[in-house]
Amino acid sequence: MQTILGGEFEAGLASLANRLATHPNKHADPQSEPLISLARLNFQIPDRQDLPPLDRYASLRLPDGTSRIAGYTESSRGCKHLCRHCPIVPVYNGAFRIVAKEIVLEDIRRQIKAGAQHITFGDPDFFNGVGHAIPLIESLRKEFPHLTYDATIKIEHLRKHENQIAKLRDTNCLFITSAVESIDDAVLENLAKNHTRKDFEHVLRAFRAQNLPLQPTFVPFSPWTTLDSYNDLLDFLAANDLIENVAPIQLAIRLLIPAGSRLFDLPDIQNLAGPFDEKALAHPWQHPDPSVDKLCEAVQQIVHTGEKLNRTRHQIFARIQEAARRAAGLDQLTKSEALPLLAARATIPYVTEPWYC
Ligand code: SF4
Repeated sequence: MQTILGGEFEAGLASLANRLATHPNKHADPQSEPLISLARLNFQIPDRQDLPPLDRYASLRLPDGTSRIAGYTESSRGCKHLCRHCPIVPVYNGAFRIVAKEIVLEDIRRQIKAGAQHITFGDPDFFNGVGHAIPLIESLRKEFPHLTYDATIKIEHLRKHENQIAKLRDTNCLFITSAVESIDDAVLENLAKNHTRKDFEHVLRAFRAQNLPLQPTFVPFSPWTTLDSYNDLLDFLAANDLIENVAPIQLAIRLLIPAGSRLFDLPDIQNLAGPFDEKALAHPWQHPDPSVDKLCEAVQQIVHTGEKLNRTRHQIFARIQEAARRAAGLDQLTKSEALPLLAARATIPYVTEPWYC
């Protein structure tokens, strides 16, 4: 027997626990709980007492080499946007739910008592409810002046609420993660991201002006990637001094096509995607140009080895760039153009388990 609980899962989970505890033939039962629930639940303060201690989870690394114990909470769930590639969309389909401010604050208070020095807001998009997020971070700053935090916010919202970037910084936000996905406007259009390369560049400048790090995430390998466009992305990151801002795994991500994905709106995807693979939890696809898939595998290997050997982001990036230029038949960079392989350690804070959007 298996049970799948998507979306607002708690009522389904309680029902399952009840069913398993009381039903005599529980293993033969078909699932009676909805696969996906968007019920409006009465959120409770999460009881985290039986979980492993916070120092056993991912932590925050600071530029000076020190670490901080990180906690995690959500001030909202779901997302009001419909980006085509996003696995949240087939579940929430544009719905999102706010978690009451007092519940979020109490959850954070308890995690601070348990040792948290930094909080990651795991909301799919922290500014889906910007009118909820701002008073929340203001209260947090007032009650815990030394607590730092990070959150994920889409480029469209950062552009629209540009005047709040200073507020994020002044309330001890250490960095914002943003799913940029691509610097190619045609790909952004396919993904229905509702931002352009120019918007990303604008937001990047706004963050630099406020001295707050932006950590972009990407889907660099999609059916629309070419060897040249991948090299363009690497050149863009190097030219814009973004190598330290991008977790190396972000340069190896391959487009995921989950069940019910809106990517199937696109004829390219209808023609390319295979039947749903239950083990991989996705529709498999192969790039029309096998050399792009080969490069993706090579980049994944470089990232894997680099992280195992504790190489810096600059060192991993240089190796990826070398492989990408070789694959595209481009000349290798000369010594003066190439990035220093012994670059200093990261100059921006990051969480030790990178965020895959
Ligand atoms: S990619 Fe981000 S903004 Fe787009 S639907 Fe998913 S969570 Fe929402």
